[in-house]
Amino acid sequence: MEHTIIRMGQKKRIALVAHDAMKPGLLDWAKWNRELLVEHELFATGTTGKLLEEVLQTQVTKLQSGPLGGDQQIGAKIAEGNIDFMIFFWDPLTQMPHDPDVKALLRIALVWNIPVACDRASADFMVSSTLMKGEYERIVVDYTSHRERQVESMVQAAEKPSEAAPEAVPTSEPAPEADATPEFTLPTEDALQAMVQAAG
Ligand code: PGA
Repeated sequence: MEHTIIRMGQKKRIALVAHDAMKPGLLDWAKWNRELLVEHELFATGTTGKLLEEVLQTQVTKLQSGPLGGDQQIGAKIAEGNIDFMIFFWDPLTQMPHDPDVKALLRIALVWNIPVACDRASADFMVSSTLMKGEYERIVVDYTSHRERQVESMVQAAEKPSEAAPEAVPTSEPAPEADATPEFTLPTEDALQAMVQAAG
């Protein structure tokens, strides 16, 4: 698989998010790490950002509150290459109205190989890394082939005059249920070997 490099400067652009039950933990962690955090550029969802500004006495770029789109805004910044890493204390015990946004944010962080800490211990390890002190070359999958994939057949299919749909025959019989569970298969030994070889 092709890769590309995204450079992370010495001054990191850090996104911080905490769900309500996790805010005290994040604020306490941030207080402990104030000296380090103020050296970097901080971004946060609305309420988290407001609290961080008070605790750290430093400027934080505040986005929307999470449930109002803040998580998605952070995801967009990651996709645009404007966030270097993320501290995201999400609440593992409470259902949220914006659970899909939380999942989307975690997914997009993975797509772009952003370091993510979701709990205090991970955050400690992350900020105490020597990599915090210098530049870093983030290796990201080169998505060119995805962007340039052949969509011609789709365009042709869309341009073709559609055939008249066959008329539905009314029936009292319930339609047979489709098996919604996709079949899961383990990768073959050959596929695993290919991955090992590709990794060198
Ligand atoms: P908040 O959002 O910082 O505005 O509370 C966090 C979240 O719930 O994602």
